[in-house]
Amino acid sequence: MNYAANRLSLVSTSAAAVVSQNARALKAAGHDIVDLGLGQPDFDTPSHIIEAAHAAALRGETRYTPTAGTIELRNAVCQKFARDNGLTFEPEQIIVSTGAKQVIFNAFMATLEPQQDVLLCAPYFGVYEGIVTVLGGRARALPCAAADGFRLTPEALRQAISPNTRWLLLNSPSNPAGAVYSREQLVALGEVLAEHPHVLIMSDEIYEHILFDGRSFHSFASACPSLADRVLTVNGVSKAYAMTGWRIGYAGGAEPLIRAMTKVQSQITSGTCSVSQAAAVAALNGPQEEVARYNAAYERRRNVIVERVRRIDGLTLDPPQGAFYAFIGCAALVGRTTPEGTLINTDADLVDYFLHHVGVAAVPGSAYELSPFFRLSTATSEASINKAMDRIEEAVAKLQG
Ligand code: PMP
Repeated sequence: MNYAANRLSLVSTSAAAVVSQNARALKAAGHDIVDLGLGQPDFDTPSHIIEAAHAAALRGETRYTPTAGTIELRNAVCQKFARDNGLTFEPEQIIVSTGAKQVIFNAFMATLEPQQDVLLCAPYFGVYEGIVTVLGGRARALPCAAADGFRLTPEALRQAISPNTRWLLLNSPSNPAGAVYSREQLVALGEVLAEHPHVLIMSDEIYEHILFDGRSFHSFASACPSLADRVLTVNGVSKAYAMTGWRIGYAGGAEPLIRAMTKVQSQITSGTCSVSQAAAVAALNGPQEEVARYNAAYERRRNVIVERVRRIDGLTLDPPQGAFYAFIGCAALVGRTTPEGTLINTDADLVDYFLHHVGVAAVPGSAYELSPFFRLSTATSEASINKAMDRIEEAVAKLQG
């Protein structure tokens, strides 16, 4: 019996999820595995947020909510956009969904015609491609070189846009490279986009608060206000407040776009979890000290990993500017041979070798459409990062050729 529809053959299960599944299976079989595959904060959700959810449940906020989100949360999101990003939205321009992932799904479901192009800056979060493809669109990877800080250049954007382009997706700070765009860099991209009024821009700003070396964050819509009615600004509480399991993402954009996305959501999930929405109100309106504390921890870990990679011949890493990943270049190791005599042909081979030879779980660059690299998550303790790097150092030293 074939259960899956044809469209499912176009996509595969998220690579990071597969890596983590494999790591878990090896752990369960008694192997000692350091899992730097999955990107989620290792911190617990701050207690005032949990208490707000508890209080909401006790108050009876246990029923269906308005499809686009509770008015309390949409108001809190409007205030957040105004406070942090200088963006002005009315609640009608806001949608709250089950994670930023559903926001992205809703947006493409609502707007993409079959075979229209979505431009993605590689390396990119693989879910973008999965959603676009399953909906019948075409994901087009625009390679962004390490030498350009893994950022899209205006020239590359100009060349990539065609009459068939529906969306450009930007992600700053980025998963997996930690690339951060300055205001000037966003303005330069905006100048190209101003020449192409048929292109919508999705700005995924979910790592907004995880920024290093004293950098400040610039939201695309505030850097390019003349394009604002074509920009969907996507964000959420998962990363900033260590709330991945609560599943709250949100977006601000033109009212007709938000209305179309809300129509999609009305046919899928309806309004997202009532108690999680109350928690998200507390996260956005409450004290923000924890956010800064997490950021300081991620920066220390970033420094540890950069220092460790520097000491390993054959690996390259410019300091990530934000987010909690290291996207490590491994071109010099391709063509070498493992102690068992297996040739390392690709980054996926190298990641496989790390997992089975020294018990370190990483995600290959191929999962992000840029090779040869591998991604390690730094959303874990310094001790785990050091343990993983000890093992990677040992594994690399054993490669021959
Ligand atoms: N965007 C990016 C770039 C991400 O890395 C992630 C999570 N890995 C998401 C969106 C989705 O976040 P969530 O659905 O938890 O809000």
